[in-house]
Amino acid sequence: MSSSVRVEAYLESLGGAAACDRCISDAFAALAPWSANLAARRLACIDAAERARERCGSCGAKMLVTRTRQAVPQAHR
Ligand SMILES: [Zn+2]
Repeated sequence: MSSSVRVEAYLESLGGAAACDRCISDAFAALAPWSANLAARRLACIDAAERARERCGSCGAKMLVTRTRQAVPQAHR
């Protein structure tokens, strides 16, 4: 399974909450921080996720975070 698929599944499991690259990396024992960053940027590229400078839902740090796009419209329907 590619890292971007695993990261997308992880972001969906958060229910639309934002996660920074470090928390994404920490969620997978074998995923290096640069690999988490690449996967998150790839997801943003295909509009599966959005990246913004916000507070991370896991560690609380205000930095560049990623959240899945799918969970947002479903929550408002
Ligand atoms: Zn974090």
